Amino acid sequence: MAVPAGEVAFREALRAKGLRVTPNRLRVFRVLSRHSEALTTPQLVTLLIGEGLNPATVYRMMQQLTQAGLVHAVMVGHEHIGYELQSPYRAHHDHFICEACGRTFDLAECGLEEAVVRLAERNGFQVTAHHAELHGLCPDCQIAGRTGLRDGSAEAP
Ligand SMILES: [Zn+2]
Ligand SMILES: [Zn+2]
Ligand SMILES: [Zn+2]
Repeated sequence: MAVPAGEVAFREALRAKGLRVTPNRLRVFRVLSRHSEALTTPQLVTLLIGEGLNPATVYRMMQQLTQAGLVHAVMVGHEHIGYELQSPYRAHHDHFICEACGRTFDLAECGLEEAVVRLAERNGFQVTAHHAELHGLCPDCQIAGRTGLRDGSAEAP
């Protein structure tokens, strides 16, 4: 099997963060690199079924990888947390969360870098990365005339 792009760098980054390069961490990396959308812990467990990973293991691993800055946690729907690879393993992008249907969208272009860096510098901070989370109504919900927060009983389409 071919080694996915970025895996060599990912292995090096694990070592640099003091994390061992384990088969499970590489499995998670491969699954994440095959999906453009953020994956929740249950989704990761389902996708890695038969590989001996249980939800607790995956949950712990994702927390470690998030802390190490290798993956990024993003809200999926109104109450779930999904994970996706962090740049440089994945191109930088920000997120839009629809308040009506709860879906999370990747925004193709950023254009915020300069503005956020200026804002941070004015406040005395040095920026190494940013993640913007915009909230509002997605195109589908605008067309359907939906507004604001859903009642929480319906699942996202
Ligand atoms: Zn929507
Ligand atoms: Zn994303
Ligand atoms: Zn951005």
